Amino acid sequence: MTEKPSKAMPVIGIDLGTTNSAAATIIEGKPRLIPSPEGAQGILPSVVHRPAGGGTVVGSTAEAAKIAMPESTISAVKRSMGSDVTLALGDETLRPEEVSSLIVRELKRWALDYLQLEPAQKLEAVITVPAYFNEAQRRATKLAGELAGFKVDRIVNEPTAAAMAFGLGRADEDARYLVYDLGGGTFDVSIVETFSGILEVQASTGDSQLGGEDFDWLLVGWLAEEVRKEHDIDPLEDLRAKALLKQKAEETKKQLSYDEKVELVIPLLCFKDDEPVGLTRTITRSMFDEMILPLLEKTMEHVEDVLSQAEAEAADVTHVLLVGGSTRIPRVKEMMTERFGRPPRDDVHPDEAVALGAAVQAGMKAGLIGSDTLITTDVAPFSMGVAAMQHQPDGTMVPDRFAVVIPRNTTIPATRTNTFYTLAPGQTAVAIRVFQGESGWVEENHYLGEFSLEGLPLNFAEQEEVEVTFAYNLNGLLEVSARSPKNRREMSISIEDEFDRDSQEAFLRSVQRIRDLEMDTPSTVPGSTVEYEQPELPNLFDDFDDEDGESSPAELMEETRALLLRAKAILDELDEPSRADIQQCLQDCEKALEEENYDILEELADRLFAAIMDVELEDDA
Ligand code: AMP
Repeated sequence: MTEKPSKAMPVIGIDLGTTNSAAATIIEGKPRLIPSPEGAQGILPSVVHRPAGGGTVVGSTAEAAKIAMPESTISAVKRSMGSDVTLALGDETLRPEEVSSLIVRELKRWALDYLQLEPAQKLEAVITVPAYFNEAQRRATKLAGELAGFKVDRIVNEPTAAAMAFGLGRADEDARYLVYDLGGGTFDVSIVETFSGILEVQASTGDSQLGGEDFDWLLVGWLAEEVRKEHDIDPLEDLRAKALLKQKAEETKKQLSYDEKVELVIPLLCFKDDEPVGLTRTITRSMFDEMILPLLEKTMEHVEDVLSQAEAEAADVTHVLLVGGSTRIPRVKEMMTERFGRPPRDDVHPDEAVALGAAVQAGMKAGLIGSDTLITTDVAPFSMGVAAMQHQPDGTMVPDRFAVVIPRNTTIPATRTNTFYTLAPGQTAVAIRVFQGESGWVEENHYLGEFSLEGLPLNFAEQEEVEVTFAYNLNGLLEVSARSPKNRREMSISIEDEFDRDSQEAFLRSVQRIRDLEMDTPSTVPGSTVEYEQPELPNLFDDFDDEDGESSPAELMEETRALLLRAKAILDELDEPSRADIQQCLQDCEKALEEENYDILEELADRLFAAIMDVELEDDA
């Protein structure tokens, strides 16, 4: 297939990281990092600062302000994404997604400059998230992109993106990658398989609250204790001293990746009785390794977990890919080398791989990279289900059990239906409470939302059926519906996080807050001079579809190939006539794909999807 110039809106890939962020695009068929207009390397520190004169600055200027003005500087906002906290930025209070949107907006400025586009040019973005991000965290990320004025086309899992960057050009190799991604605030590990041009995520797990920041704070804790012992004061009570310790701890940590020992000198940390207090300590690599060992062991437990989920042995892994700044820690490389019996790949750039992979996804969407080069399928990183009563062998009923509808590691997109029953005689309404997680008890899982289905026909206890359907899309976003098969009453929700951040009003309030912040921006500070642009309202009911609701040819081909893969996977298990039906659909689709006959491909792909769904629903029933 030849490369076709894209008529669509330019699409860029964005890695919105805890410590650093980056954007990338496709140039001459290859992903490239977007540099800043000021000529800096394409890595943007994810730090936002509000100068005394007003406005905001993002990036290294903001990072430099962190020590002197910690109360008007925010870093590591990714760790709060999807939560209900508000963050103080000088005289303003912002939600995490609003802070993140300022970071994304700075990357947009870089992209517009690099691609020589007008400021008014509409851009689409593919943004990455840790595979282990939950619904609320994904939605907050999407919103951050929209608040920055992007049409957020696709949310992609970070390890998938890293594997795509590595796998581009290697897709014909039959291989298994283990992607170990340890960044500033999150840890992800995935097993990805490539075969015949297909890149398939087999399993994913991790911890959205574990990363290099934790290593820094462990070192800060140790240093603070040394100050307490020596001077009998707590430096952590002083915001400025705390920020200074954090900065020195991170510098020391990074240096220890290259040197066996580091001399840490802070001539002036804080004051005690108007006398200056300083700190000098020598820290060795082995001291640091010991401090962080429990956290590294936790990551190795996840490695074992992902191997067993993928039913793979260490020997089955062809390439170990290390992604994220914290994988520069020598102990991480050693542990992985010990576990896999060979060193990880050294040709993966830990800071760039995710953004480059996001650009590959963006390029496929824009038709800049042939979708026959690489097809990806991803999995649901959590189980999703509803709260239900459970029968015990002794006849009693236990409430608040977790009934799984879509199990973890199901290939997505996925639609599953389970049938539940009313509890009491004459019951005409049921509450559908939706959760994600792996515990058998709903209170130990993550609550996603709830709704009720009313108007059920009268019936005896435990006799009236309610079908609950979960549809989980490629972006990891969930729709749940409940239906009475008897009277066809139906209710559905697109799961919004519990803080209602998706509502149009909340969106407009955020837009206003950011606009107010920017109105008094001083024009001399780099990174703060972008003209404010009114972002478009997101269409809350049409997640991630094109504006016209149609897929581009490249997307359609990608989707169809993923469907073919799924159809082939189930074919052998089918009985007639389902088997013959799907076989026919499959052949028709393959023919249309080969002939690039998009006019009929969409209809055939829909038919194939419906046929697969029928089979999967029957299996579930
Ligand atoms: P990321 O989120 O991938 O940008 O990773 C950022 C994290 O990597 C931060 O916690 C950094 O302190 C950490 N990091 C960057 N370089 C190094 C290094 N040389 N050694 C240890 N950690 C590092």
